[in-house]
Amino acid sequence: MRTISDEQKILLDSLAKVVRDRVAPVAAEIDRTGAFNWDVVSLFWDLGLLQIMLPEEYGGWPKNPCHTLCLCIEEIAKACASSALLLIIQVVGSFPLIEAGSEAQKKRYYPMISEGRNLMGYLVTEPGAGSDVQAISTTARVSGDHYVLNGTKVFATNGSVAGLYTVLAKTGERELSFFIVERGMAGISIGRIEDKCGFRGSNTAEVILEDVVVPKDNLIGKPGEGFLIAMRDFDMSRPAVAALALGLAEGAFDYTVKYARERYTFGKPLIEHQAIQFILAEACTLIEASRGLMERAAMTFDAGERNTKLASMAKYFCSDAAMKITTDMVQVLGGYGYIKDHPIERMFRDAKLTQIFEGANQIQKMVIGREISKNR
Ligand SMILES: Cc1cc2nc3c(=O)[nH]c(=O)nc-3n(C[C@H](O)[C@H](O)[C@H](O)COP(=O)(O)OP(=O)(O)OC[C@H]3O[C@@H](n4cnc5c(N)ncnc54)[C@H](O)[C@@H]3O)c2cc1C
Repeated sequence: MRTISDEQKILLDSLAKVVRDRVAPVAAEIDRTGAFNWDVVSLFWDLGLLQIMLPEEYGGWPKNPCHTLCLCIEEIAKACASSALLLIIQVVGSFPLIEAGSEAQKKRYYPMISEGRNLMGYLVTEPGAGSDVQAISTTARVSGDHYVLNGTKVFATNGSVAGLYTVLAKTGERELSFFIVERGMAGISIGRIEDKCGFRGSNTAEVILEDVVVPKDNLIGKPGEGFLIAMRDFDMSRPAVAALALGLAEGAFDYTVKYARERYTFGKPLIEHQAIQFILAEACTLIEASRGLMERAAMTFDAGERNTKLASMAKYFCSDAAMKITTDMVQVLGGYGYIKDHPIERMFRDAKLTQIFEGANQIQKMVIGREISKNR
């Protein structure tokens, strides 16, 4: 039994049809060309999927937005993980504003997101700082009524297609702060666009900030609150990455079960060989366990309770499960699992990233360990 409301069920039923008709048919092509698919972006704006976490008057989902977001991500990821990632980066990028933005900032930027249909980018990672967020070197120096930003951000999802960025920079020796930065501001340029192993339909770019003059009003929260905002963002985004991994695993599993019914070896369908059934049994169990953790992490966030430990558990468990399941599903298809006529090899490549970003899985275990040691 799933813990979804009647409203969520209606949303998911119609989303499943849209995914089947409009997203699944382009998934292989997006992966092959690596081109950013603006048609999918427009479709998601039309469906309200890129505004889910905003307040209701800006198109947001009224009840349990994080859980609803996760369910939508899961549904889309069954067919196309690159498309599902669009939902994640949109909320990760807008979260600092939602969590700590002033009324004036919300009044200016919520309409730019919702009606202006601006994609978001989240600029934290740098060449010298990935897992260790506090090691960033981008600076924001006060100059009159402005801050002047300088630094290089890497691996930015939506980096070259976003209209708005939330940027983490140093406002003091040990002080990190977020800024909302418009793509059109002078001094912003795009460096390399990454050529990736998976998630090839997702845009990943280097963004260079050279003397970018940003009004003081664009500082989000108070100076020095950036690290805490980033950590709170993870509490929302890690269940979302868990949902991404879960969707990938389910997509690979469903495809493989169908294949194993139709493929014959030694005079019977593959699915009737016990060795294959054992692989499928493990995958099916991991999927159910993943769903339980992901939903608990998301619903705890929506309830306004501390979910840091659960969010890290969900993120690492679901992504490790997705990596194992997609690898095993390649094995069940044999040679056919390794060629591009079937989606399994794409899902196998995509699954790897879920173990790495939004905090690599080693970092998740550090967070869980810390929470245990503090008895939270
Ligand atoms: C496709 C893609 C999209 C991304 N999108 C974004 C984005 O939109 N915005 C953004 O800011 N970033 C983004 N990232 C960056 C991503 O979050 C980082 O890659 C990730 O946090 C890991 O950082 P790193 O790559 O620098 O690895 P490192 O920090 O160098 O770590 C390397 C390895 O060592 C392990 N490790 C590190 N420290 C420890 C330790 N203390 N103990 C044990 N193990 C440790 C890590 O788990 C990892 O396995 C993206 C990355 C990719 C690949």
